[in-house]
Amino acid sequence: MTTLIPILGDQLSADLPSLANANKKNSVVLITECMEEATYIRHHQKKLVFVFSCMRHFAALLGSKGWQVDYIKLNSKNGPASIPQSIERAVKRHKCKSVVLTEAAEYRLQQSLVALQRKSKTPVTILEDTRFLCNHQQFQDWANSRKQLRMENFYRDMRVQTGLLMDGKKPIGGQWNFDKENRKPAGESVSFPTPRQFKPDEITSDCIAMVNKLFPDNIGHTDNFWFATTAKQAKAALKYFIENALFTFGDYQDAMLVGERFLSHSVISMYINIGLLNPLDVCRQIEKAYHAGNAPINATEGFIRQIIGWREYVRGIYWLKMPDYVDENFFNHTRPLPDFYWTADTRMACMQASIDQTIHEAYAHHIQRLMITGNFAMLTGVNPKEVHEWYLAVYADAYEWVELPNTLGMSQFADGGLLGSKPYAAGGNYINKMSNYCKHCSYKISKKAGEDACPFNYLYWHFLSTNREKLSNNHRLAQVYRTWDRMKDERKAEIAEDSAKFLKQL
Ligand SMILES: Cc1cc2nc3c(=O)[nH]c(=O)nc-3n(C[C@H](O)[C@H](O)[C@H](O)COP(=O)(O)OP(=O)(O)OC[C@H]3O[C@@H](n4cnc5c(N)ncnc54)[C@H](O)[C@@H]3O)c2cc1C
Ligand code: SF4
Repeated sequence: MTTLIPILGDQLSADLPSLANANKKNSVVLITECMEEATYIRHHQKKLVFVFSCMRHFAALLGSKGWQVDYIKLNSKNGPASIPQSIERAVKRHKCKSVVLTEAAEYRLQQSLVALQRKSKTPVTILEDTRFLCNHQQFQDWANSRKQLRMENFYRDMRVQTGLLMDGKKPIGGQWNFDKENRKPAGESVSFPTPRQFKPDEITSDCIAMVNKLFPDNIGHTDNFWFATTAKQAKAALKYFIENALFTFGDYQDAMLVGERFLSHSVISMYINIGLLNPLDVCRQIEKAYHAGNAPINATEGFIRQIIGWREYVRGIYWLKMPDYVDENFFNHTRPLPDFYWTADTRMACMQASIDQTIHEAYAHHIQRLMITGNFAMLTGVNPKEVHEWYLAVYADAYEWVELPNTLGMSQFADGGLLGSKPYAAGGNYINKMSNYCKHCSYKISKKAGEDACPFNYLYWHFLSTNREKLSNNHRLAQVYRTWDRMKDERKAEIAEDSAKFLKQL
């Protein structure tokens, strides 16, 4: 009685539910590199190398542990067009009597697995993905019990559930959230460690060659590929972060500096999302560093909140609201995404730096994604679906379940405030406070109007004034609108004129 265990490209965890209870002797593990997954969006070249290399390494690891693995390479002859087709073929090939898999994280893929389950003559069991802390039902129950969904409330429940940073029923440090301490700009004299890097081995080099051959026109390149591609390496990267950067993670969480692509960020989201690191294990290690006196509470709490709070919360929102969520467009924004999102060819130093490192590293940190590229897209009225597709393509950690709510909800406010309580809109002052980009920019941050004025300065007010009707009920914007109302008519006219000129040439 052979059981087929298909493992998806982001399920590369030894503790995956479908593997945990399986009997090695009568199971075949199926791992498929398939064109549909590689091309449904034009993924960054480094993202493709990363995913394929991790898949191949994982298959090799399972093989070394005695599993029978059927691995289908992307460039194999007559390769399957889709994951369900690959499963159907493998069932026949291995004469399987049952299929057991772990639910897909993305709606699109999960729908196709459920369709397969319905039509298949061979029984297909789909297990819950227990690597997440909050399952779909639990999130739905939580959401049903609330008038308004807010991450902070959800996060507190997750703290209690996991016991992370808890002293009985109370949060350690006497507060749930230390975010106020986590908004320091970084001086140019502060030095930051580079994340732990790994030399490509033979498997990764093969993937690089394959991606160079099959996807030469996708954004980015495969040069200087340094990501971890095994669980062992990812654990080493996490350890390196804890020992070298966690200490200042909180302080500089929102900071941005020219030439510093990573600052005190962990650069582990891609490892967690693909399954090389377990999110709860990561948090337990971070908590351990706090108890050992190796990290302050603002860094520890801030980091853990991102994982058991934001990461779980956005997944909950995604599954609560799909499939309609992807089409939400609260402001009815219709502008196409400017070309320079693909080339970094822009005079705005903040945009140039954030996009340029995206092209080279398939990585930008949260504030660059939210307050630079995301903010600019919202202020200029770019269609949120185009913004979403860009983020999904360009980052090594991007999977729709986590990327879509972050982009559409958090950064574009396209869900009208379901995920966040106000739009993350900011003018040049914020960027200037949190970075040194403006010092390197051909626009002048101090100028509010005219040819060389910082575009964020007038676009911010243009966005707020244009969307006043939709935002006037938002009490968090009341003060901002009072400032607008006090502005002189001539200043308002300048804002309208500069914005119209800028948007026309965009
Ligand atoms: C527009 C936009 C798009 C985004 N797209 C993605 C995406 O496709 N994939 C993705 O994993 N994250 C996404 N994020 C969230 C966040 O920017 C990244 O998780 C983070 O930048 C990854 O870098 P890091 O590992 O160095 O994170 P750190 O700053 O070191 O944070 C630690 C960990 O917390 C988690 N985390 C932090 N913020 C979030 C968040 N908002 N949502 C979910 N997890 C979070 C990640 O696992 C991350 O590794 C997006 C944010 C925005 C604003
Ligand atoms: S001046 Fe404006 S456009 Fe230039 S870096 Fe600063 S915020 Fe960005």
